[in-house]
Amino acid sequence: MQLILKPYILKLKHTFTISRESRDEQPSLIVQLREDGFSGYGEATSNPYYNVSIKGMMRDLEQIEPLIADSSGMPPEEFWEKMASQLPNNKFALCALDLAYNDLYARKEGKKLYELWDYDIDNNPLSDYTIGIDTIEKMVSKMEEMPWPIYKIKLGSDRDIEIVKELRKHTDAVFRVDANCGWTADETIANAIALKELGVEFIEQPLPADDWEGHKKVFENSVLPIIADESCQVEADVEKCYQYFHGVNVKLTKCGGLTPARRMLVQARQLGMKTMVGCMTESTVGISAIAHLLPLLDYVDMDGALLLGEDIATGVSLEDGKVIYSDLNGTGVTLTA
Ligand SMILES: [Mg+2]
Repeated sequence: MQLILKPYILKLKHTFTISRESRDEQPSLIVQLREDGFSGYGEATSNPYYNVSIKGMMRDLEQIEPLIADSSGMPPEEFWEKMASQLPNNKFALCALDLAYNDLYARKEGKKLYELWDYDIDNNPLSDYTIGIDTIEKMVSKMEEMPWPIYKIKLGSDRDIEIVKELRKHTDAVFRVDANCGWTADETIANAIALKELGVEFIEQPLPADDWEGHKKVFENSVLPIIADESCQVEADVEKCYQYFHGVNVKLTKCGGLTPARRMLVQARQLGMKTMVGCMTESTVGISAIAHLLPLLDYVDMDGALLLGEDIATGVSLEDGKVIYSDLNGTGVTLTA
């Protein structure tokens, strides 16, 4: 099994601003695993909050290249365990590798990933479309250029309720909000009352990741459900979030790929929590992997590729929030750049 690493700089359609940062481009690493005429593809983007660089991912993957070459044919769960022990501090690199391996494995089996896992795709949730922080006029125009049934609005400015009030004048779509750790507990409890009246469905990660006392207070007093993102990174965090959050937003890059993500989602549902998967501005390579998890989800935020000026692959696509799977096996991806 051959390992091929392809770094890209993905240009964004618009400058993307959240509570802690602003950016125009998104570096990304594509991992290709090739064997017997089949190729599997995985992806992980760089991320300053999680201290992840493309260079670091490439270095860590190159170091275990002989081990990867020697691991053909293993069941994906076994492959993940073996690789996780070699990449204890680089979940993003592990994610890209795990996605590529699952994709390759399913293609060799002649199945789409959701078929391999025996998932029923009839009740898949619709994806939201993310509106980054901007002037109200620009946020409205971003919404209008992308008519969509559900929007996720990034907040964490000093006029959050005013923003949502203004956006609400232009659409009846469902709103979700994501404060990316930008609020206090008391602000969150007060904002939830106003946001509920404005047709907001839930609040994602209002407080800093490690403010567990604050999370508890918000969990007990908020009139809207609260979904953990920055507070739920790896498998052990699902249990930590139980009775501190109403649900978890699992991201493939944070936890190390599809293999642990599936276990986390099953565990969250067993605990009676809402399940969500989010993205990290991946191209269609990463987004296509997420699509196969939809049967396990209540909510999904998989608009990453739509935020790009130019994509680097074909695979699953989104029509008004609904996922259209590719005809190809595995994740369904073909690289185009
Ligand atoms: Mg988030």
